[in-house]
Amino acid sequence: MITIKEKLSLIRTRKLSAEENIKQFLEKIERDDKKGRQINAFLHLNKNALGEAKGVDKKIREGSVGKLAGLAIAVKSNMNVTGLPASCASKTLENYKAGYDASVIEKIRKEEGIIIGMTNMDEFACGSSGETSAFGPTKNPASLEKIPGGSSSGSAASVAAEFCDLALGSDTGGSIRNPASHCGIIGVKPSYGLVSRYGLIDLSMSLDQIGPFSQDVYGSALLLNVIAGKDEKDPTTFNEKIPAYHEMLAEKIKINIGISNELQNITGKDVRKKVEGAVSRLKILGWKSQNVDLKHVNLAVQTYYPLVYVEFFSATRRFDGRRYGERIENVAGPEVLRRILGGNEISKAEYKGLYYRRALKAKQLIEKELSEAFKKVDVIISATVPRIPHKIGSSITTEEMYSYDALTIPANLAGICAISIPFARIDGCPIGLQIMAPSFAEARMFQVAAAIENLLKGGK
Ligand code: GLN
Repeated sequence: MITIKEKLSLIRTRKLSAEENIKQFLEKIERDDKKGRQINAFLHLNKNALGEAKGVDKKIREGSVGKLAGLAIAVKSNMNVTGLPASCASKTLENYKAGYDASVIEKIRKEEGIIIGMTNMDEFACGSSGETSAFGPTKNPASLEKIPGGSSSGSAASVAAEFCDLALGSDTGGSIRNPASHCGIIGVKPSYGLVSRYGLIDLSMSLDQIGPFSQDVYGSALLLNVIAGKDEKDPTTFNEKIPAYHEMLAEKIKINIGISNELQNITGKDVRKKVEGAVSRLKILGWKSQNVDLKHVNLAVQTYYPLVYVEFFSATRRFDGRRYGERIENVAGPEVLRRILGGNEISKAEYKGLYYRRALKAKQLIEKELSEAFKKVDVIISATVPRIPHKIGSSITTEEMYSYDALTIPANLAGICAISIPFARIDGCPIGLQIMAPSFAEARMFQVAAAIENLLKGGK
C-alpha cells in the first residue's frame, strides 16, 4: 500500500484522481465490509462521495490543492456531518440525520478531504470493544475473530482494512488509542482543548477529544494539523497549532523516557515484556530512560467512571424522545443504561455531589503527578492496553472491560496528549506502545513516535 504522503503527491500531480481514489475504496468496502470478511466498519456510506471527489478534481485542475486533497476520511458516528446519520450506533438516534457540520468536518472539507462514511462504534462511545453497538460488532481486520477495540471500533477498523485513507475517532478514556492498538495502526488523543468538540455528541464533555487514525505517523500528524486550533464555537479550545510534519522532524531530539512501575504493574506479563524490550531498543537512538513515580495512576479507572457516569447522565437528558429519536431509556443497550442509572444515582441531592467531587480531587492528583513527572522526563512510555483483545462475543465482566483502559485513562484525566503506535504482536495480534507527552506538546509526541516508527520499520 502506498503511503499518504505518496498518494497526496500522486493526486496533486494528477497521476491519480480523487474520484479514482474514492472509487477504489468504495469497491473495497463493497467487497469486504458487509460481504467477504464482513468487517462491519461502516454504518453508512456517503452517497455523494464520488460527486464530491469530482469537485476536488476540478479544483486541482484549477490549481488549488488542499492539505487533504482527494483523501477519503471515515468519521465516527458521534460527529455531525451534514446529511449523514449521526446515530452513535444507538437505536436512540437511529433516524437522526445531521443538519450541520461539526467544526472538524468543516476544516476537513476546507482542505478538500472527502468524507467517505460514518463508522460503527460502541453505543454512545460507551465501551472498549465495539460490541455494544446496536448494529452488530466490528471485526478486527488484523485478527478477524478478535474485537477491534473501542469505542471508535469502526474508524480504526476502516483504516486497518484499507477502506479509507484516514479516520476520525473520539477519545474519552482511550477510545482512539485502544482500537488503534488492537488493529495495529496509529491513533492520537490530542491535548484537551486542542481540537474543537463542536458537533461531537458528548460522552463526557470534560474529557472527550476528537483525534485521528492513520497507517503511519505522518497521516495522523497531517490530519491533526488540519483539525487543531481555536474555534469560537467551542470555548474550551485554545489557539494552539500543530506544526507541519517536516518542520517537526527537522529538529534533532534527545529524549529522556519516563517509565512508570505503577503502569507496568497493571500491565499483563506478556505485554509488559514487549514494552521492556522496546524501551531497551530505543537506547540505540541515544535516548535515556528513568523511572517516574506515579503513585495515583492505578486509581485512574475508579476516578474516571464517576465523572463519566455523571456527565453522560447529564448529556443524555436531551434524548427524551421529544426532540430527537427515541427515549434513550427505552431503547439503549445495557452498558448505556448502567451509566444512566449510575449517573442518576450518584447525582442525587442527598449525596451533595460527594462522588463527583471526590473523583475530581483524584483527577487533580493524577494531573499533578503527571505534570511533576514531565519536569524530569520528556515523554512517558507504556503499553497502550494492558492485555491482548478477547474473542468477539466471549463473556468478560464489566470490571475487566473497564480495565482495558487503565493505561489510557490517565492522559484523559490529566488533559495531556498521547499516541498509540504499533510495535509488536502477541499471538498474531498487534499491540500498541503508548507515548504520553505534556499538554500541547504534540510536536514532541510526534517526533518521538516518528523516530520509533523509523526504528521499527526494519524489524516489526
Ligand atoms: N472505554 C471507555 C468507556 O467506556 C472509554 C470510552 C471512550 O473513550 N469513548 O468509557
